[in-house]
Amino acid sequence: MPDRQTFVIIGANLAGGRAAEALRQQGFDGRVVLVGAEPDPPYERPPLSKEYLRGELPREKLFITKPECYREQEIELRLGMEATRIDPKARVVELAGGARLPFDRLLLATGGRVRRLSVPGSDLEGIYELRTVVDSERIAAELQPGRRVVVIGAGFIGAEVAASARMKGLEVSVLEMAPVPLGRALIDDMGRVYAEIHRERGVALYTGEAVERFDPSTLRPGSGQASLRAGGNRRVERVVSSSGRAIDCDFVVVGVGIDPATELAEQAGLAVDNGIVVDQYCETSARGVYAAGDVANFYHPLLGERIRVEHWSNAQRQGAAAAKSMLGQREPYEEIPWFWSDQYDVNLQYVGHAASWDEVVVRGSVDERTFTAFYLKDGRLRAALAVNRFKDIAPSRQLIRQGAPIEPRRLRDEDIELKSLVSQAV
Ligand SMILES: Cc1cc2nc3c(=O)[nH]c(=O)nc-3n(C[C@H](O)[C@H](O)[C@H](O)COP(=O)(O)OP(=O)(O)OC[C@H]3O[C@@H](n4cnc5c(N)ncnc54)[C@H](O)[C@@H]3O)c2cc1C
Repeated sequence: MPDRQTFVIIGANLAGGRAAEALRQQGFDGRVVLVGAEPDPPYERPPLSKEYLRGELPREKLFITKPECYREQEIELRLGMEATRIDPKARVVELAGGARLPFDRLLLATGGRVRRLSVPGSDLEGIYELRTVVDSERIAAELQPGRRVVVIGAGFIGAEVAASARMKGLEVSVLEMAPVPLGRALIDDMGRVYAEIHRERGVALYTGEAVERFDPSTLRPGSGQASLRAGGNRRVERVVSSSGRAIDCDFVVVGVGIDPATELAEQAGLAVDNGIVVDQYCETSARGVYAAGDVANFYHPLLGERIRVEHWSNAQRQGAAAAKSMLGQREPYEEIPWFWSDQYDVNLQYVGHAASWDEVVVRGSVDERTFTAFYLKDGRLRAALAVNRFKDIAPSRQLIRQGAPIEPRRLRDEDIELKSLVSQAV
């Protein structure tokens, strides 16, 4: 009988967890080893800035699969364990502590690491970032009504934290370097809508301003606090912006994006360029080594370009797609990217990928905050952004997939059902 094959997955979160499950679903009966630096089995991150942060969801509901299912499916979990080196030629993973794990196929699902600020005072206590469940719990402990938080960065994570903090009755200030919130993903007009949404709900939003420094709490002479200073245990009390604005606060949340966790791939000589470079089968430049999720920069056959996506839906689907490729099935991964964000009672969904566009057409009412913005390039739909209008997402996805020319006025006209355009566009 041939030896059982061993498939190793590094990164035990969404992409890695879904890949492990998919291997079993596809009938793989060799060893599946899931190595994760965090102590928890794979869990959902989206609630960490929303329901879980606000205390509306119990911890056990975060897990993507009941923890006992890993035992049932004979998926070996190595949690709280960092992989320190990979050798694609010798087909070995080295783990912290020196253990060696031979593999036949390897998946890198190492995700992203939060960017840290390096301005003066960045290491003060009371300054948080948000990526893991532990981060979310630390911030949740600070979310008491009446307290003052400064959020640095109005990308999706920062904007969601700001919304959750307001919903919990905190005084919220947000500093954003760009002219509008969510600027990286939306056009300025849509960003302006989000600026209004936050300001209407009482957030002090300062755009076009970066953080200059964090000031520590003032130590009163003779108060006994000098020993705190000696221990470096001082806490943030004020945020000073690039324009000189000083904002007093009780704590700070920094949400300035992530960098793909590519160290293992780089050290092994794999192609890396804004993430681990993979083809449409999720395979890296080393045969038998794959990558998926936030860390993967992949060629998208339908969009005709390389993209790296930092969203939930891609992590789960690409993880499962990589598993199929590891088993030798040659199915290109060509999911149309999709994500959502919830802030207050406003649901945003975005489907497609438009790095640039010629025209944006709006259906619905921006003033009433129920609308869809369609991003067109060369007369074809590239992306759609729906605010409180999720029904437009499915037909938009089909229109993007079809890639046929489409008349802007038809997208705009609410008397024409969007799904009726799908067949007409073929
Ligand atoms: C607060 C928050 C809210 C979000 N909300 C939304 C949302 O509303 N909508 C949406 O579409 N997306 C959202 N996302 C994004 C979504 O959660 C991510 O896209 C998804 O988690 C990516 O999954 P992943 O498995 O690729 O990477 P990750 O979730 O980053 O997991 C990678 C794992 O690999 C581990 N790892 C890294 N290196 C090693 C190593 N050397 N050895 C062992 N383990 C290692 C890490 O510890 C980590 O656990 C949100 C993310 C956050 C943080």
